[in-house]
Amino acid sequence: MSSKLVLVLNCGSSSLKFAVVNAENGENLISGLAECFNLTDARLKWTINGKKESTSLPPMSAHSEAIAYIVDHIIKKETGLASKFVAIGHRVVHGGEKFTHSVLIDEDVINSIEKCISLAPLHNPAHILGIRAAQVAFPELSQVAVFDTAFHQSMPAKAFMYALPYELYKEKGIRRYGMHGTSHLFITQEAAKALHKPISEVNIISAHLGNGASVTAIKNGQCVDTSMGMTPLAGLVMGTRCGDLDPSIIEHLIAHEGYTLEQVMDILQKQSGLLGISGISSDFRTITEEHLKNNPRATLALDMFCYRLAKYIASYAVPLGRIDALIFTGGIGENSALVRQKILELLSIFSYHLDTEKNATTILGKSGIISAKNSPVVMVIPTNEEWVIAQDAVALVAKSALIGA
Ligand code: ADP
Repeated sequence: MSSKLVLVLNCGSSSLKFAVVNAENGENLISGLAECFNLTDARLKWTINGKKESTSLPPMSAHSEAIAYIVDHIIKKETGLASKFVAIGHRVVHGGEKFTHSVLIDEDVINSIEKCISLAPLHNPAHILGIRAAQVAFPELSQVAVFDTAFHQSMPAKAFMYALPYELYKEKGIRRYGMHGTSHLFITQEAAKALHKPISEVNIISAHLGNGASVTAIKNGQCVDTSMGMTPLAGLVMGTRCGDLDPSIIEHLIAHEGYTLEQVMDILQKQSGLLGISGISSDFRTITEEHLKNNPRATLALDMFCYRLAKYIASYAVPLGRIDALIFTGGIGENSALVRQKILELLSIFSYHLDTEKNATTILGKSGIISAKNSPVVMVIPTNEEWVIAQDAVALVAKSALIGA
């Protein structure tokens, strides 16, 4: 077994995803999810050697209890596994303007993540809880923070600024930061390999379509624009998030319709998107099934999802000029041949043509070109954010060992 194993932690406010990743080939040896934190039915499920297991956690468990269980009852039970760990890699949603790359975690880094709490009030406090718990569980291991926002820090001001008073940016940090950066970076690296080009010459559009969804324009290997904003609420139609809307709707609902700000934010984040439009589900598989049964609201949800995405993709012709490939990833991008077909139909002005057979068969973790020979290139590339986190963690630990030597 490789000695380059990384425990990757993705701590949310009420759940924690974890994976033991081989940094050399991206293989997940163990992966799992602890959920329902601070509730009586806190629980943990995981997959090890292809076998699914689960357990309930003590009532009201949260990050530290979950991490302690993972270490004591899962990792330490696998003989010799813990001794192969090189580092712990933490996914951190918001690094503000401070972090353009992954970093080794020290008290200064934790303080900086804390300073970004107002930009990611649900995520960053949970990340800090996770980091603290991991420090207790693995005091001898380096901890590394990998930021969702880092890849997007190359955006020019004309793309990241909102047309608000300049002071709101300078003094309060109000700007577009973008998210899913780790995924878009992975897609850029894989696209460069597939296109046989150095990363610095790759111009692509990367559409990460999962429960959260974002699309990014990448020029010469660097992000030049992206659909998410100061927070992950902006941009595309998502599972339960609304994406772009007229900000006056918020004022209207509060001033004229009697909603509280909290209720409105709950609507925008948790009751909108595919769920809100369809009234059925946030899950794309259910939306597709209902659309195929001629449910008009499922069809509307699907159409709005595709229309908004196609408009974003078309608009990225502006910063890119030349597009080497359009790439689909994330649960929907990797699996929905229907969405890919609809997007290319909406983008017919760019002369896209699908290879119908390849589109239908490039699903379930397969990667490949799905466009016809006479078309600009369209690809599916399964994302692997955990692998990027593991690779960055190993690289940073190796670098610090060199510096320390
Ligand atoms: P997350 O953002 O939580 O990581 P994923 O990337 O796993 O999400 O994507 C989840 C979405 O992918 C869900 O809407 C799910 O319905 C959709 N999805 C998964 N498999 C399919 C499929 N075969 N066809 C269409 N959509 C799918």
